[in-house]
Amino acid sequence: MTASHLDSFLDLCRAAVGPQNVLTDATDKAPYLTDWRRRYTGDAVAVLRPGSTEEVAAVVHACHAHKLAVVPQGGNTGLCGGATPAAGEAAANGVVVLSLQRMNRIRNVDPLNNTITVEAGVILQQLQEAAQAHGRLFPLSLAAEGSCTIGGNLSTNAGGTAVLRYGNTRELCLGVEVVTARGEIWDGLRGLRKDNTGYDLRDLFIGAEGTLGIITAAVMKLFPAPRARVTALAALQSPRAALALLAIAQSHASAMLTGFELMSARCMELVTKHFPQLRYPFDATHPQLVLLELSDSEGEEHARAIFEKMMETAFEGGVVIDAVVAESVQQSRDFWNLREHIPLAQVEEGKNIKHDIAVPISRVADFIETTDALLQDAFPGARMVTFGHLGDGNLHYNVSPPVGVDNDQFLMHQDAINLVVHNSVQAHSGSISAEHGLGQLKREENQRYKSEVELAMMRAIKQALDPQGLMNPGKVI
Ligand SMILES: Cc1cc2nc3c(=O)[nH]c(=O)nc-3n(C[C@H](O)[C@H](O)[C@H](O)COP(=O)(O)OP(=O)(O)OC[C@H]3O[C@@H](n4cnc5c(N)ncnc54)[C@H](O)[C@@H]3O)c2cc1C
Repeated sequence: MTASHLDSFLDLCRAAVGPQNVLTDATDKAPYLTDWRRRYTGDAVAVLRPGSTEEVAAVVHACHAHKLAVVPQGGNTGLCGGATPAAGEAAANGVVVLSLQRMNRIRNVDPLNNTITVEAGVILQQLQEAAQAHGRLFPLSLAAEGSCTIGGNLSTNAGGTAVLRYGNTRELCLGVEVVTARGEIWDGLRGLRKDNTGYDLRDLFIGAEGTLGIITAAVMKLFPAPRARVTALAALQSPRAALALLAIAQSHASAMLTGFELMSARCMELVTKHFPQLRYPFDATHPQLVLLELSDSEGEEHARAIFEKMMETAFEGGVVIDAVVAESVQQSRDFWNLREHIPLAQVEEGKNIKHDIAVPISRVADFIETTDALLQDAFPGARMVTFGHLGDGNLHYNVSPPVGVDNDQFLMHQDAINLVVHNSVQAHSGSISAEHGLGQLKREENQRYKSEVELAMMRAIKQALDPQGLMNPGKVI
């Protein structure tokens, strides 16, 4: 790109979003150029910070005209490097990061329709709080909720801890507003539960990780806020016992079961090592813990009665070794903190090889047993840090080095370890990315497991919506 070409582009952007929102200085750009896990650092001509849909359209139009690629970014908490541009000369000259953080308005709350219309840069926690202020629940919940944005949640089709009851982000969305790769605005902000008027374009943009267009706003579903919640930790012998507990919980609590998270002993060891202020509530170490949550529209007494019956069955059947029930909101938070600090404890511990996989719920225990054995065979001493949303068949199956082995040295085996884990996922009819997306981390890997027919359809969609290949290149496909 010539200097005058670049200058004319930057002038257009400055006119569109104001000079203070066109960052070209290396120090100003730096926070936008490295991902949360610090695995990827890229480069970009500029970081653009539009404040409205019209401003997004204007800068994307300028990118299209000047053939500059666009990397959309929300809270930059993604775990697959999707929001980070590539490194090197080409990236430095031909890419911008488009941050949606300034687009943080709640446009409308419609309690009767049970919907909320928000801009893409609204932080997930703010959305939850806005719902709460209207006596409603927005159920998407994940450990990064204090900094991830709804645009990022939609673009990665985030899952989190309540998918079991409410579905993932796709199922929580009724409509989207999108700026296309050409810089046009598509107003698809429909708050309809039924709309069979042709191809579902909304669902194309959800989970596309910014490779088809920019989501600028969305209509999200709200739910009646539950009157009571019961949170408990159950100690178990194995993932197989956890599956038995899930079946018992579902038969007793049905749709009231809103959380069912599995955590291995190694997860708890890491959390208590790096966050000693968090209290482990059992006297003994147990091989597995399950964090359960029931949400009830009738009240505390009703919820506790169901919970007690459920645990009675579980104890009688020898499924559970021990259990503690939260006696206060604070204790419930403490239990969730143990779960949510696992990824943070892993960061403190050092690099590891992450897998975000899904298998049919019925096959979770088989998957863990088989894959653990395969890895022990190939990499003796490798330590699996396994936790996740068991109620959705989604595991974070992370692999740490054997004791005494250097993290970087172990990471040299990443491809071989991925092959073992992902082949096992395939053998169990699963997915190599359950909720984090593909980004740049799993783009290549995905090609190995998708059929040529499926890949060809994905390429055709990309070609139709982004013929110049400017939307988040090098990600997903
Ligand atoms: C501690 C921690 C815990 C996590 N737990 C979970 C979990 O339980 N479940 C889960 O699913 N994820 C989890 N994540 C991953 C992450 O929080 C989610 O992927 C989240 O949805 C990303 O939102 P973001 O705003 O940070 O997006 P970013 O990281 O900024 O972007 C993610 C992707 O979306 C694209 N994008 C962002 N905004 C837009 C937009 N407006 N239009 C088009 N494309 C866009 C980016 O280009 C990128 O490809 C966790 C992350 C952390 C750090």
